[in-house]
Amino acid sequence: PYDMLIIGGGPAGAAAAVYAARKGIRTGVAAERFGGQVNDTLGIENYISVSVTDGPKFAAALEGHVKDYKVDIHNLQRAEKLIPAAQPGGYVEVELANGAKLKGKTVILSTGARWRNVNVPGEAEYKNKGVAYCPHCDGPLFKGKPVAVIGGGNSGVEAAIDLAGIVKHVTLIEFGAELRADAVLVNKARSLPNVTIITNAQTTEFTGTNGKLDGLNYTDRVSGEAKRVEVDGCFVQIGLVPNTEWLRGTLELSKHGEIIVDAKGATSIPGVFAAGDVTTVPFKQIIIAAGDGAKAALGAFDYLMRS
Ligand code: FAD
Repeated sequence: PYDMLIIGGGPAGAAAAVYAARKGIRTGVAAERFGGQVNDTLGIENYISVSVTDGPKFAAALEGHVKDYKVDIHNLQRAEKLIPAAQPGGYVEVELANGAKLKGKTVILSTGARWRNVNVPGEAEYKNKGVAYCPHCDGPLFKGKPVAVIGGGNSGVEAAIDLAGIVKHVTLIEFGAELRADAVLVNKARSLPNVTIITNAQTTEFTGTNGKLDGLNYTDRVSGEAKRVEVDGCFVQIGLVPNTEWLRGTLELSKHGEIIVDAKGATSIPGVFAAGDVTTVPFKQIIIAAGDGAKAALGAFDYLMRS
């Protein structure tokens, strides 16, 4: 049994593990894939104090830092069930896919999130080669170039406004007849001279030359015509899905499925804390997830001292 059991080994989970271990308490981490989303990232240029690194290097550094301390790492293990403590101060249990059960006086959930894909030909092929998901991360790579944004909800329209200040031109593509973002954002996007909005457009394929994205094809859902936009980059903004399917019905989630946390990372279950992209904490970034993991570990440690 652990004093602090961390589920998820991305930036949030790794930071929580380092903070917990430095308190001299029994710490364990179970993760499906240590490193998390950063494994899929090409360049990282916005982690303060590290000018440039790449995803696999950053993931290895996370694991290396955790291994500097006495932390049990259960890698390649998927958690499937959370069982709250039977009585206050008791052990919270986490059941793994392999049938094993891990116990913690406190548990930190940091299972992250995943970007929803368009699921059309070329998306996987040109991922990180033009097809991108995070405007804060990859926007500057397309400075002065034409890009597209897929998705006319708040995140898509925000991305279009944000990118318009960096890139040459933004084509915002929405499947439905109308943009679904807040009116203030829609008005702002419409006022920008280098943003074009296309509605009723179903993306059908990403295309490229020499291994790099060169555009996307779509069907005009009103006329049925096949059309095309030539771009160097395309930001897919059709949703970020928190990895909380396994927690449904056990603790309080937002309407988007994110774990609701308070200022110290506490969830609706005593002794269970959460951190990073899986929570309601806004802005999904490495530095934010890492800070959030540290905060949740300190929150959980505070709980341990009092129970
Ligand atoms: P994650 O990194 O998602 O880690 C979640 C962890 O939980 C993983 O170890 C995963 O295997 C594990 N897990 C999930 N479900 C289970 C389960 N049921 N049981 C056990 N373990 C589980 N941010 C930046 O700041 N800069 C960038 O340049 C940048 N580029 C990005 C590029 C791409 C392509 C992507 C996808 C994201 C990028 N991000 C970037 C966002 C950043 O990666 C995330 O905000 C950050 O990784 C979130 O950290 P996290 O620890 O909360 O979750």
